[in-house]
Amino acid sequence: MIFMARKIRLIMKLRKSGITDTDVLSAIERIPREAFIPPTFQDQAYEDMALPIGRGQTISQPLVVAMMTQELELNDRHKVLEIGTGSGYQAAILSKLCRRVYSIERHRPLLEIAEQRFEELRLRNITTIAGDGMKGWIEQAPFDRIIVTAAAGGDAPTALLDQMSVGGIMIIPMGRDKASQFIYRVTRTEEGYDYEKLMPVRFVPLLPDIARDTQPDSVVDDSADTGVNMPPVHQTA
Ligand code: SAH
Repeated sequence: MIFMARKIRLIMKLRKSGITDTDVLSAIERIPREAFIPPTFQDQAYEDMALPIGRGQTISQPLVVAMMTQELELNDRHKVLEIGTGSGYQAAILSKLCRRVYSIERHRPLLEIAEQRFEELRLRNITTIAGDGMKGWIEQAPFDRIIVTAAAGGDAPTALLDQMSVGGIMIIPMGRDKASQFIYRVTRTEEGYDYEKLMPVRFVPLLPDIARDTQPDSVVDDSADTGVNMPPVHQTA
């Protein structure tokens, strides 16, 4: 199996780069990343790179997925909200580490493909909707954990802050432009919210409203910037 050796090499790289949580590493080992990538790019599935998935979007770099997941400090009682289902890869990793994942995506065509993948891999604890994730998912709130996989501008969306439970953690990339984005860890306390700046990243933007998606899409002709989701330098935790 060609992917096996590459997967082991990737996991060793993640460990060297500060991923020490063995549950996170084992989720990465168990979820086939190649199943979340369009055929053209499949031979790069275990490179530590973001790759195009269509609609100008990307599946995040494995190190960024691992780092954000580790910072969530998940356990099997947690109810988790993800904004930006994209390929579904991050949701699949989360599904192995928590009770239930709720994931929102604004591009319906991407969501349909992601849902098929969850079905094929029998990941039964993921619930999705097409919509604007900036508004959160009020019917399912509060959430123990929230992960946003697209970059917010100035601050975390108010609806998401409101939908965190006390003691909850949100991991969210923020920054006014791509050159100055950082992942933040926001913790909700009895008194308010604590912010901690973690690592530099480059994410696609968090956009309002549901996308209209009237044009057909082709990932081969896609103009996605494959540099997104790559930290400018390799960070340690
Ligand atoms: N977690 C994804 C990463 C996808 S890239 C993965 O593992 O593949 C970020 C995704 O966020 C894109 O698919 C984009 O369409 C989506 N997105 C951006 N703004 C959004 C919003 N307001 N609500 C829901 N999804 C959003």
